[in-house]
Amino acid sequence: MRRAPAVHRLALLPLGALALACLLGLAALAADRWLFPPAPQARPLATPPSVTPPAEVTHYTITARYDPQTFQVSGTLTLTYRNLTQAAIPDVVMHLYLNAFKSDQTQWIQEAGTGHRGFLYDAAHPGWMELAHTRLDDGTPLSWEALDADATLIRAVLPVPVAPGASFTLITDFTAQMPRVFARTGWAQDGTFVMAGQWFPKAGVWQETGWNAYPFHANSEFFADFGTYDVNLTLPAGWVLVSTGQEAAPPSVTAPGLVTHHLYARHVIDFAWAASPDLEVRERVYRPAGTPAALTLRYAYPTSRRALAKRLMPVIEAALGVYENDFGLYAQGLYPTLTVLIVPPDAGAAGGMEYPGLFTVGALGSAGPACVRLPEVEAVHELAHQWWQSVVATNEAEEPWLDEGFTDYSTVRAMSALGLELYDCGGWPFSYLSMRRMEYQLNPQTPMAGAAWDFDFATYNIAAYSKPALALSTLERQVGDEAMRTFLRAYFARHAFTHPRAQDVRAVMRDTLGAETADLFFTHMVERGDWMDAFVRRFDRDAIELERAGDLCLPLMVDLVNGVRRERIPWPCDTAELSIAQPASPWREVIISPQMPPPIDLNHANNGARLGVDVGTWLSLAARMVYALQSLSFWGGAAW
Ligand SMILES: [Zn+2]
Repeated sequence: MRRAPAVHRLALLPLGALALACLLGLAALAADRWLFPPAPQARPLATPPSVTPPAEVTHYTITARYDPQTFQVSGTLTLTYRNLTQAAIPDVVMHLYLNAFKSDQTQWIQEAGTGHRGFLYDAAHPGWMELAHTRLDDGTPLSWEALDADATLIRAVLPVPVAPGASFTLITDFTAQMPRVFARTGWAQDGTFVMAGQWFPKAGVWQETGWNAYPFHANSEFFADFGTYDVNLTLPAGWVLVSTGQEAAPPSVTAPGLVTHHLYARHVIDFAWAASPDLEVRERVYRPAGTPAALTLRYAYPTSRRALAKRLMPVIEAALGVYENDFGLYAQGLYPTLTVLIVPPDAGAAGGMEYPGLFTVGALGSAGPACVRLPEVEAVHELAHQWWQSVVATNEAEEPWLDEGFTDYSTVRAMSALGLELYDCGGWPFSYLSMRRMEYQLNPQTPMAGAAWDFDFATYNIAAYSKPALALSTLERQVGDEAMRTFLRAYFARHAFTHPRAQDVRAVMRDTLGAETADLFFTHMVERGDWMDAFVRRFDRDAIELERAGDLCLPLMVDLVNGVRRERIPWPCDTAELSIAQPASPWREVIISPQMPPPIDLNHANNGARLGVDVGTWLSLAARMVYALQSLSFWGGAAW
């Protein structure tokens, strides 16, 4: 805005033209700095990472077009599926996820009840998927049967079983009716924004025992093999496209008013894209091109959300540094880009979702004040999925806690490392971990283990998000930050691109933190859902009595204080009750876990007591709790 008068004054002067060019350049730089935070300092790696890329199981070649009038993506898909197991494949099983949204009577919608993450399903604008002319590459037609009432999972018998080491290739036409944006996928802005998640027929995962694939459930996310996606996507001219992978060639005009984009992605478990004529894209170099593990960050956002992009860039880039230090290189150095999409305000249902090399932010619709850091938490959480969902790639349907739990714990770690509280308004800091503690307190005996459909929405949040975040944070306090980092780095290095199960994670924990710690964590917190509450049962001039409720036991320390005199005593696990005699000059204060109570300890307010009543302390605590409760009701829990 400040440049306009300068242009007016200098426009007619010949020498002024040169000066103007310089001025404009400087002004553009200045405006750029003013508008956007400085780009991250590029950090070239000294040596290339040593990494074994995953074997290619699936190879998808998709040619499709999005029509913003009908909200349909239609085209042809060719899938080559390699049998890397020792068992012959007799049939093919595929997911048609969009069929979960074909009416308000589907199992998915019935399970979801009132909606998904606070967004309502619009039955007037459903989603569905139809296949036509499915055949093998030799022309043999295949016929599908639905494996559930809504045909979210379908199966076709192959004419000849596919032997170990061999592959089959099927070709099918498909039409994907995108719903009005709901549950991470669909269109908004009258069709001029589309987030295409689960937009193509996707193969199940063939294992020694058969296809690992389930009908789509409301709590369930996804599971797929690693593979290659070669996608030609035709959009209206002038639209901006972001996706998993990279543009393999410059876009080309293929018909009047239509542009075809050629996209390519390797070593990924999924492929998502989004497009709109209203997106602005800004690239920032994280590691320079031509260096090992080169990485460019791409931010795409509607111009109306530029301020939010500005706000999130430094947080995302700092968190990326934290995660690379704590876990290992982003995508083991195999993905040259990472795209962050901030969805338009009326497409909040597409926000807060992770795909390989692409994640979305904006589930809240509006950014809110800077001291309420829900967008930061959302971004840092989705970023962490790049390690656990996209690269380690656990089974999100059968063991959701492995993905969401490690991701949410990573979120806690990053927020803490960056010194960011979830709420920091008016001098009342409240951490993300504290919010998760409040959710956990609603149903602390929920085990973490279990398939997505074993839980209702509230217990799913506890099992998959809150309890793992608290349990892993508790573990971190027990073993120390350095040991925890050793475990996390070993887990990521050993299991990148391998789809580990819980027992594999347990083995890494045993190797790095010891058998006792691994058993305590997995037996008590993952499988049995044990809980604990250590509390002061009696504290007066005659006696001190401490008690531990629940079946989970963590070794604790107890501090006894009388003025400047302080004594620390251990409270081992084999003692459920601890009685301490008061000396002639009695202890005036007792504190269980004085440095930091275990996050998994149900109630921290009963961990200490004093002789006499300290009204100020308790009023302060009460005020904080009221504030925290208000904050929680504002957000209503988080599953992202
Ligand atoms: Zn998540």
